[in-house]
Amino acid sequence: MAEVVAGEDRRAKDNVLYEGYTATDVKAKVLPLRPTAPDTPVMLIHGIGDKRGALLRKLGVVTARDLLLHLPRRYADTRDLTPLSALIPGEVQTSRVRVRNITQRYSPKKHIKLVEASFEDNGTVVGAVWFGPQFVERQVFPGIELVVSGKVQRGRTGLQFRNPSYEPVSAEQHHVGALAPVYPETHGITSKLLREWIEPLLTTADVLPDPIPDDVRAKENLMPIAEALRQVHFPDSLESADRARERIAFEEHFLLQLAAERARRRRREATGVVIRYGVDVARGFATSLPFKLTDGQRMAAHQILTDLAGPGPMNRLLQGDVGSGKTVVAAMAALMTHHAGRQTAVMAPTEILARQHAATLDQLLTRHGLPPRMLVGSTAAKARREVIEALAAGHDALVVGTHALIEDDVVMENLGLAIVDEQHRFGVAQRQRLRQKSGDMPNFLAMTATPIPRSLSLTLYGDVDLSELREMPPGRLPVATRVVAPHDRADAYAFVREQVNAGRQAFVICPLIEESDKLGAKSATAEYERLRGDVFPDLRIELLHGRMPSREKEERMARFMRGDADLLVSTSVVEVGVDVPNATVMLVEGAERFGLAQLHQFRGRVGRREHQSYCLLFQGGVDEEGSRRLEAVAQTGSGFDLAELDLRLRGAGDVVGLRQHGLPEMLAADLLDVALAQRARAAALLVLDRDPVLTAYPPLADAMREYRTVFDLD
Ligand code: ADP
Ligand code: MG
Repeated sequence: MAEVVAGEDRRAKDNVLYEGYTATDVKAKVLPLRPTAPDTPVMLIHGIGDKRGALLRKLGVVTARDLLLHLPRRYADTRDLTPLSALIPGEVQTSRVRVRNITQRYSPKKHIKLVEASFEDNGTVVGAVWFGPQFVERQVFPGIELVVSGKVQRGRTGLQFRNPSYEPVSAEQHHVGALAPVYPETHGITSKLLREWIEPLLTTADVLPDPIPDDVRAKENLMPIAEALRQVHFPDSLESADRARERIAFEEHFLLQLAAERARRRRREATGVVIRYGVDVARGFATSLPFKLTDGQRMAAHQILTDLAGPGPMNRLLQGDVGSGKTVVAAMAALMTHHAGRQTAVMAPTEILARQHAATLDQLLTRHGLPPRMLVGSTAAKARREVIEALAAGHDALVVGTHALIEDDVVMENLGLAIVDEQHRFGVAQRQRLRQKSGDMPNFLAMTATPIPRSLSLTLYGDVDLSELREMPPGRLPVATRVVAPHDRADAYAFVREQVNAGRQAFVICPLIEESDKLGAKSATAEYERLRGDVFPDLRIELLHGRMPSREKEERMARFMRGDADLLVSTSVVEVGVDVPNATVMLVEGAERFGLAQLHQFRGRVGRREHQSYCLLFQGGVDEEGSRRLEAVAQTGSGFDLAELDLRLRGAGDVVGLRQHGLPEMLAADLLDVALAQRARAAALLVLDRDPVLTAYPPLADAMREYRTVFDLD
């Protein structure tokens, strides 16, 4: 939409350019209306235009509302005024002055533009100079009163402000002589411009509906939204800026909690598919296994089976490191579902993973009369038709597949349990579609080897029940992890060769696909060439990266899994779930470029069988902070602990990828602020108790819209 800009696309002249506005409107300068409607595209706001509108889009700002919600990072405080007579050389100071004169000239040698002025207050005169291209001379003239702020230095003719910022004195200072907001900027979009655009929009803030009901606001001692926006952009004091920000953060937590709790209540009331908890079935399954279930597995299975037997549909996340035995737990749930006469569908993000699951489930369940069927992209047309018909007729009770499962013509009237592996690899809508394969509301189980930190579970997963497998099955050798300094590279390669000579295989993970000089990071393609040419010319090496067509990726991966290659050089695409029991070395180039949780994922690719396995974290450069993080991975075997550590090091936004979860980006809320989340949750519960479907207060119902899909509220 906004890619079509008025000046450039003549053909689109009278077509609708922006929702609700035509090029004719733009020409006729219908805008700005005051107050600007919150949905107005910023390009149509007076003074912004197409070019700057496009730049603003980079900051995530598309509408007037977005601009109002573009919150400052900090404030530049230049309220403390110093009389010119009291200026101290060498320091940044702010003064209120009258301009005596202003001239411009070019420096004799370098021909740089110099604008010079002299300021006065109470008889004291100091100079000022601005270097380089400036527009000062257009805005500043003799006699005008300014607030100026900048570094003061001693020049040939006395004290002088160097490149000071300035603003004419008025009733309200916005840039200089104030607590001026400093925003996230981008090239061509300065904080000064943002202030100029945002200030007039405060009249729009006045007409914004406030999603927080009055009584909640009063009880929690929160500002109305208009006041909060005014105070966050142009605060009376740092304290009121804090309170304003807290109000906005509270709103975000409040909406999140409200959505989660509503979903939870709806789910409890819904008639889900009830799967009877057959203790005999569970026992029979457990005793048929060649091993004893771990305590964690028994606990998780019990939680799941209890949920399945409850009236509302289950919504549970089973977290556990790769190899912790999640699939075994899922298998028990599928068997129970089968005994209740219902179908189970297992969806994985790739064909390789789907095949692995099918193989594991085949071993576990076929003897119990529940052989898994497969449905993936490459399933031949005839086989596909057969599976689809059987599923529709309710015959096949366990199907394992990929996105192919959510095609329109796949119907599972009888679906009782939907399982999604590595659910963060799917979009919200895709997960939803799997659940909607049957008329009833099936039970939902997500599995992941990338645990979400405990500290986030309250704020982010209000509607999800968690089960965790914290221990590994006995007998698993921990993967020996070493941080390898650049000068130890040769030794490490010698070690890799030893392993290959002993019949094992190795992964080599690189941060990038192609060489990028700027980053100095190893690329998979270049590293593949180098290893093949110089380091291991005698070994069989395979290359894998995300830009290959998925069919090719799968073929190459399959060759490595079959043992047709000794080394697999890859980007991070190899991260998830792949099981190559014969691989014993995971070598990660430029390891400090990856998140801790991701490194742990890589490490989980090896150590899958009886062979002792190794993870070699190659450090790209010398960097204290980087080595400490890598040492943490080397010392810590638990994915849960690393997830917490990762969160503390990188902050919530980066770790969880809110968009991936289908959630709106948080503007002010810190997802780790459990105290505020709890306050918001208590308020949300009260509101829902008195108005379960939120009809009494339309602004709140409207604000909930962004959360509808992710919490399945439609
Ligand atoms: P995940 O799905 O969590 O990666 P799986 O369920 O695929 O893990 O289990 C990994 C391997 O460990 C499988 O080969 C499985 O048979 C084995 N396994 C699972 N649970 C146990 C257990 N309690 N004791 C011994 N081995 C187990
Ligand atoms: Mg698995």
